[in-house]
Amino acid sequence: MAPKIYRSPYPNVPVPDRSVFTHLFHSGEPNLVGGFPASSTAYVDAPTGTTLSRAQVKSFALQLAHSLRSAYQVRRGDVALVYSQNSLSWPVVLFGSVAAGLRCTLANSAYNARELGFQYADSGAKLVFTSEEGIPVVLEMLKAAGLNESEVRKRIVVLTTSLHWAGDSYVPVVPAARGFTTLSDLLGHGALAEEEKFDGQLSNETVYLCYSSGTTGKPKGVETTHRNICAVLDQVKPAFPVSEDGKDRMLGILPFYHIYGAVKLVHFPFTTGTPVYIMPRFDPVQFLANIQKYRITSSLIVPPVLVVLARLPIVDQYDLSSLDVLFSGAAPLGAALTKQVKARLEKQRKTGKEVYILQGYGLTETSPTTHLVPKPYGITKIGTTGVLLPNLEARLVVDGDGEGNIDAEEGQPGELWIRGPSVMKGYHNNLTATKDSITSNGWFKTGDIAIRDSDGFYSIVDRRKELIKYKGFQVPPAELESVLLTHPEIADVAVIGVDSAKEATELPRAYVVHARPDTVKSDAAKAAFAQGVQKWVTTKVARHKFLRGGVIVIDAVPKSAAGKILRRELRDLAKKELAGR
Ligand code: AMP
Repeated sequence: MAPKIYRSPYPNVPVPDRSVFTHLFHSGEPNLVGGFPASSTAYVDAPTGTTLSRAQVKSFALQLAHSLRSAYQVRRGDVALVYSQNSLSWPVVLFGSVAAGLRCTLANSAYNARELGFQYADSGAKLVFTSEEGIPVVLEMLKAAGLNESEVRKRIVVLTTSLHWAGDSYVPVVPAARGFTTLSDLLGHGALAEEEKFDGQLSNETVYLCYSSGTTGKPKGVETTHRNICAVLDQVKPAFPVSEDGKDRMLGILPFYHIYGAVKLVHFPFTTGTPVYIMPRFDPVQFLANIQKYRITSSLIVPPVLVVLARLPIVDQYDLSSLDVLFSGAAPLGAALTKQVKARLEKQRKTGKEVYILQGYGLTETSPTTHLVPKPYGITKIGTTGVLLPNLEARLVVDGDGEGNIDAEEGQPGELWIRGPSVMKGYHNNLTATKDSITSNGWFKTGDIAIRDSDGFYSIVDRRKELIKYKGFQVPPAELESVLLTHPEIADVAVIGVDSAKEATELPRAYVVHARPDTVKSDAAKAAFAQGVQKWVTTKVARHKFLRGGVIVIDAVPKSAAGKILRRELRDLAKKELAGR
């Protein structure tokens, strides 16, 4: 049977075959950078108000690229790891590395040395950009990788927390990070005349390696190419509301190390001339205070932020009248919560103007956004993840494990498959995983189950894959399971996600089999053991992987004849148990 292929309601946009750097910064005229005035503000450090103009971002990036070439002898295709919370230095580090022809692998700033070490080794990173807070973890990680003191120092560059200009001279905010080379040390020694080119076929070279567990197993490096990024930036544009007067101001709270933050906050606003006010991390009070202070018009969020906005009494004390749109992505957002926050914000603003809370959908593997709710549908299509972006095709497949030759009937659920120029090249050094997730004719299997309504709006209704998402962060069950199996008293384990409506997120939960079942016969012994395991895990993994959904002692993990964990059975068990509470 012929596949049932759905297309975007938007006409295709031209896909530029060039480098990310060229795409962002190129412009024919000297007083423009990427089509907007060179002197206009690109990024603002929200805590201090320090700004970087478009010209400064470009100039710093080319200066950094020059030093990376001369002092670090980096070559095209080498990998730099970035390990830092958001800061004004981020765009400079990212674009400077890209200008030098490097690939950047972006790591969660909450990772411990083991987690970071995995990504460092797997990506083959040569250089580590870290914030000052990250230094101890990076040191531990590099020493565990077998590097001596002097080798370690040659690999670390410390990101200055803030870049501050006085006149035309640069004042580093972190003057000397304990003898390590800082970003400021690498600026001001000349500049690369031109960025490394990735035109034509070369645009298919990898530029970013974010890590995702995909449909199964441990995190894998997602090879995002220059062309993927150039494509997605232009694909998002027709569906993304930008005010006519060019006075948009975006608040950046999402972590830049996740592809969602990297693309939608560091890259995309640069292409629309929108300044981004950067917060180091999400803090509810600072979030509200910054909207008021900087007259913010839009922000990108994850669903748990809306829970805070729905509940926090002090929301009413701030002037949020400038706010026009909140974009939510990375995890499911329910219609009820959306309506509640929308009503509260509109009442609080007292202007009679709508506040739009628009949902989007995507994956690290699709660079990321594939669906968005266009603003005109922001009220009628609340709760959906929107329509397909230009240049993308979709299928809803009901035999996802097989050849994909049975598609769902109209209006029926199926696994969402995506094809188009923003689909990753593949998983780094992992041909098997790549082949399992991208078919020979280019369809990427998302592992999510979706329904498409007759207007072309998609809703994500379930997940086929193992992945758990805690507040938008990936928690790969396979990784937690392998950590738990190192516990001396655990014989077997399965990790699943359980829903928390209260926090609008999933919570990781472990079902464990005790190595000596006789010792945990009573309920009290089981509870004590479970509590011990929950605490033990907090010493082994980053915070977002803590077992907040609990630890349950069971006799045996349900498995198929082939030994595959039957997660669906455990999920059903958890659902029943939570419903009965
Ligand atoms: P990541 O690669 O970390 O961005 O995670 C991608 C996964 O997040 C998707 O495969 C979905 O399971 C989930 N996801 C992202 N956006 C949404 C959304 N709007 N609704 C439901 N799930 C989502």
